[in-house]
Amino acid sequence: MNNITLAPVQTDQPSHLMPVFGRQKISFVRGQGAYLYTEDGTEYLDALTGIAVCGLGHSHPAVTAAIAEQAATLIHTSNLFEVPWQTAAAQKLAEVAGMEEVFFSNSGAESNEGAIKIARKFGHMQGIACPKIIVADHSFHGRTMATLSATGNKKVQDGFGPLVEGFIRVPFGDVEAIEEAAINHPDIVAILVEPIQGEGGVNTAPQGFSYLEDIRRICNQNNWLMMLDEVQTGNGRTGQYFAYQHTNIIPDVLTTAKGLGNGFPIGAVMTQGRGVGVLTAGNHGSTYSGTALGSRVVYTVIDTIQKENLVANAAEKGAYIVSQLREKLADQNVTVRGFGLMIGIELPKACGELVDIARDEHQTIINVTSGNVVRLLPTLNITQDQADQLIGRLVSMIKTFLA
Ligand SMILES: *Cc1c(COP(=O)(O)O)cnc(C)c1O
Repeated sequence: MNNITLAPVQTDQPSHLMPVFGRQKISFVRGQGAYLYTEDGTEYLDALTGIAVCGLGHSHPAVTAAIAEQAATLIHTSNLFEVPWQTAAAQKLAEVAGMEEVFFSNSGAESNEGAIKIARKFGHMQGIACPKIIVADHSFHGRTMATLSATGNKKVQDGFGPLVEGFIRVPFGDVEAIEEAAINHPDIVAILVEPIQGEGGVNTAPQGFSYLEDIRRICNQNNWLMMLDEVQTGNGRTGQYFAYQHTNIIPDVLTTAKGLGNGFPIGAVMTQGRGVGVLTAGNHGSTYSGTALGSRVVYTVIDTIQKENLVANAAEKGAYIVSQLREKLADQNVTVRGFGLMIGIELPKACGELVDIARDEHQTIINVTSGNVVRLLPTLNITQDQADQLIGRLVSMIKTFLA
């Protein structure tokens, strides 16, 4: 091994990085399971996992071995050739997702770009010249031009007009608004929503998952594609392999990324039903689509989630954390919500500073979204002890903050 060590970062030097991120002044040099470590060895409980990415925890031995072995064997050949690991990963993913076709992308936004292209082509195949897609308020679908246009957040869009056209926005959870749009716009071809809005504040629709069943019914009545963005909710996060599996329906198009690679950048857009066969030879592609390395990681992540029973653990530990937080914060003016290990604690006031307080005073990594929602996305293999540690730290911190 050649040992290249990184010189300590000179924080007084000008950075060459585009200043697009508001970064915390801390860096981690090592991770193990549910914990992150700084250079001086301080241990932090990670309840963010790289934003719902490292579901198996940091440095999971199966993922580490898959990356090391495949990197030493063959990383990439391109899709001009058969890629056996890609075929195997697609089969495994299709199985757990209940889907038929899989296209591997490299991020969540790119997966949603694929979904948007499928919807448009689906429309054009029926002679609809300007196909439209229904999207929701407070949604988040990514930072590329089409996905930021689909996103229901002005802050993501401001400064980047003209937006990509062809999106019709409705309030999240409002079934009547969709039915009304169906009457007013004959050129609608699809609906794209998140089963649980992550960036928007860990929101389920007010009526719960029956919202998805209503969307399925309306899509069937109008011959639209039902498209779910499970970039964040997928891969076991909510206590089902995909969140739509909490219901009896199945979408036509399903996107995922984040937890799919446990930190290796890879995503997927998948189809079944009327989504199948829309994209054909020459319609879509990516140089990096399903490299041998990325595909082997996907295969290994799914295999590990199955062998270690992590979907069930996410459901069980998630339910425990939610019930404990509700009980221990019952005298506080907070709402605890979520499914599995995608949990939001809504506070009665803006609480962005809790990120710093949790980190510096409780050695816990959390996130705050939507201004006043503490968002927890712990490892899917979180243990009972770690869950209790997390609950204890959060309860004490929130009580002090609201006192
Ligand atoms: C994170 C996220 C995206 C964007 O994924 P990237 O990998 O950052 O492009 C899209 N949709 C949802 C629901 C997400 O949570």
